[in-house]
Amino acid sequence: MRSITKIELQYAHRFYGFKGEAQYLHGHTGVLTIEVEDTVNEGVNMVFPCNEIQKTAWEVLKNFDHALILREDDPLLPAVLNVYEKQGIKNGSPQNTMKGEAFQTELATAYPDCRLVVTKETMTVEGMIKIVYSLLKDKLNIAKLTFTSGVNAASQEFVTHNKIDRCPLCGIALDANGVCPKCGYRKK
Ligand SMILES: [Zn+2]
Ligand SMILES: [Zn+2]
Repeated sequence: MRSITKIELQYAHRFYGFKGEAQYLHGHTGVLTIEVEDTVNEGVNMVFPCNEIQKTAWEVLKNFDHALILREDDPLLPAVLNVYEKQGIKNGSPQNTMKGEAFQTELATAYPDCRLVVTKETMTVEGMIKIVYSLLKDKLNIAKLTFTSGVNAASQEFVTHNKIDRCPLCGIALDANGVCPKCGYRKK
């Protein structure tokens, strides 16, 4: 069975080198749907609590929210960084507090201090699914990701591979010692 939840991300990007309107900088509200698959945890009668899926995903994905997403070879990147530098906001500002943990994968690098994500490939809806999967595949049993942004949408199914022990009292993942970080349940 699957537990399914949605996350909204607001971001700016452009398709560098693309022959169409999308080559100009513009913004979107993107909606990511995450489908987590596992057996039904009989203690709580759910696969996984959706608010916990959101929490796990949001830890890294909030780096994309109210962020500028540019491809690594886009000449806008040094130009924007130059302006941020002159303004003194490149390395953060007291008002930039809703930051995720910085990450670097083969496909994307997050710079939360200046709300920037630099990608290897153009950040289409397909590109976003590849990035999200690489960031979350070890943390959640992702069976399907769907990302919609304006009229664009893409989805991909995945084979789940994690063995995640879940708390029979509150449903969340047990830690490495078999203890529930939320309610203290200890696996027997
Ligand atoms: Zn767009
Ligand atoms: Zn628990």
